[in-house]
Amino acid sequence: MPKIFRLDPHVAILVAAGEVVERPASVAKELMENSIDAGAGSVTIEIMAGAMTYIRVTDNGCGIAPDDVQTAFLRHATSKLTCAEGLDAINTLGFRGEALAAIAAVSRVELLTREPCAREGISISLEAGVVTDISPAGCPEGTTVIIRDLFFNTPARLRFTKSDRTESSGVASIVIRCALSHPEVSVRFIRDGKIDFHTPGDSRVDSCIYSLFGREFSAGLIKAEVSDDTLSVTGYVSTPAATRGNRSYQYFFVNGRPVRSITLQAALERAYNNLLPAGRFPACVLYITINPGNVDVNVHPAKTEVKFASDKQVFDSVYYATLGALDSNSGTPEHLTGSSDGLHSMQVMQSGKTYSSISSGSSEIRSGSSPDSRRLTPDAPLNPPVVSQEILHSSGIGNRPFHIIGETFNTYIVVESQNSVWFIDKHAAHERIHFDALRAEAYEAMSQVLITPVICRHDPEDISLLLENSELLDKLGFSVESFGDDAVAVRRIPTEINIGDTEPVLSEICAQLKNNEAAEAVRHDSILRIVACKAAIKAGRLSGIQETEALAARVLSGEISHCPHGRPVSYVITKSTLDRSFKRI
Ligand code: ADP
Ligand code: MG
Repeated sequence: MPKIFRLDPHVAILVAAGEVVERPASVAKELMENSIDAGAGSVTIEIMAGAMTYIRVTDNGCGIAPDDVQTAFLRHATSKLTCAEGLDAINTLGFRGEALAAIAAVSRVELLTREPCAREGISISLEAGVVTDISPAGCPEGTTVIIRDLFFNTPARLRFTKSDRTESSGVASIVIRCALSHPEVSVRFIRDGKIDFHTPGDSRVDSCIYSLFGREFSAGLIKAEVSDDTLSVTGYVSTPAATRGNRSYQYFFVNGRPVRSITLQAALERAYNNLLPAGRFPACVLYITINPGNVDVNVHPAKTEVKFASDKQVFDSVYYATLGALDSNSGTPEHLTGSSDGLHSMQVMQSGKTYSSISSGSSEIRSGSSPDSRRLTPDAPLNPPVVSQEILHSSGIGNRPFHIIGETFNTYIVVESQNSVWFIDKHAAHERIHFDALRAEAYEAMSQVLITPVICRHDPEDISLLLENSELLDKLGFSVESFGDDAVAVRRIPTEINIGDTEPVLSEICAQLKNNEAAEAVRHDSILRIVACKAAIKAGRLSGIQETEALAARVLSGEISHCPHGRPVSYVITKSTLDRSFKRI
């Protein structure tokens, strides 16, 4: 008896539909992209009750000819690609010919369309992919698509949809991205009968941003721009004073498409090194234009990930564009390119302030991804540091001898090495050590089983996030179970965490999970960062001189340069800087 059969076409299309249409937001995205591909100057997106019951997208684009209207709903039917060679030069948002077929397979669809030159239009209705009506219709130029009862025939998928609030914010976030990627298109978003936003469509990014996010957000942005023959970066980044508590205001576009990319995010944040306190993130709207041959957008039908031929080139361009914007904003030269060997110190006197470079060349070079530049930050006060203990010990690792001088402000370890004094942020360095240990391949989460489960209350959106990620959390030492609509029961937590911190830690985790919908590896790391931070706090004071020494050795050798949140772990003042300050040289 054969055991392998071809899937029934009806089942096959449902499976395929699942890849394209994950949530109402993916429907909104596909329909808007079709409108933009149709050359529309304005697009209206209207949703009701979280968009599961109703999504309407209206455009004034080129419309569809009556003869084509049924074909448009067939799988792999597209007007945007005619031959394999065309794949290398795609300049439309769609090209797979899958969206309308997929959406129609899992909903009730009505489409009205009229070409600008045609006297009358046509209307077509489908239910679960089957045409139920097709007839001539009077309608305005362009296309209107109405999607009702999404997933009505796929109950399993329906069960996975979230609250109306979550789904409608998912749609809003897609519409915002689409609007930002096409400032030449006027985008109107209507939620439950109320206009949420309306962009002018005047091709200006600044007016588009203003209409989406308002005056205060716009006022905190500075222009960023770099370009060469093969790549350009333009747009806006936030001033260090106008940062946010999460990454949800980081918008990146590659060749007109909204994308998520760790490379781009890292390059942006790297430029703010030393400028932002922990837990603050820059906002940005950045457009990267790159030769289409150097970027692969064809990774997944509905995903927004891209692959770059050269991550380094893209990283550098975004990093320098951001750095340039920050420099022009401060009015002071904030970075200088210096020699890369060993410690490096420079001073720039400007507007009465002294700036000095603080980074250790070795660590910058070792990270491999960062451009060779030195960020400057305001120098330490000229008063000598308050040192609480006399020289405790001296030590040597390889050819780097150092003395631990002591600890100051109960926060910084003070170390003398060759011609410099190092201030090491104990907590930041400790956090990095915990993070690296937790991240090590061989690491298995050590958890403590709680005798009585801790009941943590969160809002329903957070609860569903935690439960959706329970497998990942389990790997990291948390066992989280459903406990009603607005609570979870926590039975295990990592040993690094105090029981009393369980609820706030889960809140922090939720905030991270919201930021990092995309890759599991990113979510994994962001949770580890939280655990590492708690572990460093729990560990408290370093237990003795050996531990202090070991920590200093790792910092001075360049092995540890930044905490997992990107803050530097050390601040270095060279003897010559001190000598100059005291006018000795
Ligand atoms: P794709 O966008 O990949 O071509 P779709 O299934 O999304 O595939 O759409 C199929 C075809 O239907 C498109 O190639 C286009 O010709 C037509 N179409 C869809 N939406 C619109 C629209 N809003 N205006 C004009 N044509 C449209
Ligand atoms: Mg399409």
